[in-house]
Amino acid sequence: MTPAKAKRLPPVPVREEDRLAMLQRYELLDTPAEAAFDQITRLAAKLLKVPVALISLVDRDRQWFKSRVGLPVQETPREYAFCAHALDSEALLVIGDARQDERFADNPLVTGDPNIRFYAGAPLRTADGLALGTICVIDDQPRPPLTPEEEEALRDLSAMTMAHIEARRAVGYLHPVTSLSNRFRFLADADALADALADDPATLPGTAVVIDAAASQQYAELTRVLGQVCADAFEVDCARRIAACLPDRTRLYHLSPARFAFILLSDGDGDLAATLDRISAAVRSPFQYQGVPIATSSGIGFVHRSDIAAESPVESVELLRAATSAAHQSLETQKPWCAYDEEQDRAAHRAFLLLRSLTEAMDGHGQLHMAYQPKVDLRTDRCIGAEALLRWTHPELGPISPAEFVPLAERTALVRPLTEWVIGAVLTQVAHWRQRGIDLPVSINISMLDLGSGDFTDRVEALLARHDVQADWIDFEVTESALMTDRAEVDRQLLRLRRLGIEVEIDDFGTGQSALSYLKDIPATAVKIDQRFIRSIADERSDQIMVRSTIDLAHDLGYLVIAEGVETAEAYDWLRLHGCDFGQGYLISRPLAPAAFEDWLAAGAFRPAAIQV
Ligand code: C2E
Ligand code: MG
Ligand code: MG
Repeated sequence: MTPAKAKRLPPVPVREEDRLAMLQRYELLDTPAEAAFDQITRLAAKLLKVPVALISLVDRDRQWFKSRVGLPVQETPREYAFCAHALDSEALLVIGDARQDERFADNPLVTGDPNIRFYAGAPLRTADGLALGTICVIDDQPRPPLTPEEEEALRDLSAMTMAHIEARRAVGYLHPVTSLSNRFRFLADADALADALADDPATLPGTAVVIDAAASQQYAELTRVLGQVCADAFEVDCARRIAACLPDRTRLYHLSPARFAFILLSDGDGDLAATLDRISAAVRSPFQYQGVPIATSSGIGFVHRSDIAAESPVESVELLRAATSAAHQSLETQKPWCAYDEEQDRAAHRAFLLLRSLTEAMDGHGQLHMAYQPKVDLRTDRCIGAEALLRWTHPELGPISPAEFVPLAERTALVRPLTEWVIGAVLTQVAHWRQRGIDLPVSINISMLDLGSGDFTDRVEALLARHDVQADWIDFEVTESALMTDRAEVDRQLLRLRRLGIEVEIDDFGTGQSALSYLKDIPATAVKIDQRFIRSIADERSDQIMVRSTIDLAHDLGYLVIAEGVETAEAYDWLRLHGCDFGQGYLISRPLAPAAFEDWLAAGAFRPAAIQV
């Protein structure tokens, strides 16, 4: 770049990066034309009797016109922008004849089209002194300096433009339903607080509180059943109740449907607890809509900025996320309010990560596979089948236990495709084994939630047909689930499976809450006693009593009994002696990959040498 050219470049304003960041925050760039701005530019052209009037925003490399009269282009490079010279000027920038001004004489906007001769611009300055751009007027004829009246008019137009920009921004910061400040305002205010903190360490760090006035499904239900008008009324009512509980001069924010927040500056935990108790009571009392009381569950969470461990200053979005996570915790545990707990948050984060990657894992990148654990007949020591157990090797996190990810999947719609994946994988294996003369039934673990879906048996039937597998080559292990909702549907599906010829085992027996009544009604063929009773059966008298009575009871009711978690020869012998039919556990074999399972079978060592009699 030649020195002559360098001289003609617009000066870089002081605090330029701040200015550019501020310009972004106003969200004006590249937005459609707006009548209020166009009225101002038309007025400017008329008052100052010029062909061209512009509201120009000076961006990093360009000036972009929010409104323009008499100019066909929407933007020009910043290096030619007259307005870029006006940003730091206190007064107006007025150029009577650009050809006579060495800064502009060979500017393409002067030498070519649009042929600028006269220019007068007034900066558009925010409250903290940063100029976003200018309002300017342009003529293709040289003109004498502005009269004092004209100068005043241009300054007034600049103030009007700025007032409109601010008003526009304020509206963008309000929630349309409650007119409370919205999430953007929350983040901007939290940022401002963080800046104050950085400037003056004596400033209190502040506490962010998030209130979920209803669980998201409840809010969706409210909208669906009673309509948006009711949901809006609910939010307005919540806002009123919460606001009544807040300390003076505390701003309430409306972040998203049924979610509110505020920032407390005082750090006294006693005050905070009292405030949160009041809010909790206020949002829990039923909302009345046309005489109908509507109760929702609510959650309140808070985080002190100083509680978030961070190397760099805590971002406000992170503050909000932490408080929201605490509110979620409160909703889940039904506690009136919860403080942010980093450990729980990390667990929730991991759960989210796992669920997100489970879909990809099911898409078949070799992350999921099945292991097979033998089951043996305790009287004959012969292998009578195998349990299929799902294995997941996550590309970053390594092996993940099904005890961790299956319950997570059960809480989402993912459980259905996951079960389908497992059944498909097992049927492929079973078909393969049968072809090779290995005719052992394989048990598949399913969730009660699978059975609640109404078409489970149909799907199984279709899969059996697709894989050319007979129904009695597999069976299902079902665990009682706290999440189970439609017990009648579960029983219907179990009966249909039985009619197809598929046997059903009750897994983890003894751990559920209603184990006995469950045993009376459920259409199952076998009971699998949970491993926690078996592992130390040889020594624990209470376990022995439990297991002995379970074996007798199950036999009396016509079930076969299998013990899982057989780890020692003593346990094996004890179970056989007390009439337990089958056993499964590390003593016999760990879960094995298919090829290793075949080797194990071929070795024929169903009964460990240590307990050969
Ligand atoms: P489960 O169905 O009760 O399976 C038995 C679990 O005990 C398995 O753990 C097995 O590896 C382990 N185990 C077997 N013998 C012993 C032993 O002698 N000692 C000890 N300490 N443990 C033993 P795994 O494979 O980690 O599976 C955990 C649970 O995850 C399963 O419990 C089952 O509820 C669930 N699960 C596993 N695979 C699937 C699946 O394909 N679908 C569904 N829905 N759930 C599955
Ligand atoms: Mg099982
Ligand atoms: Mg079990």
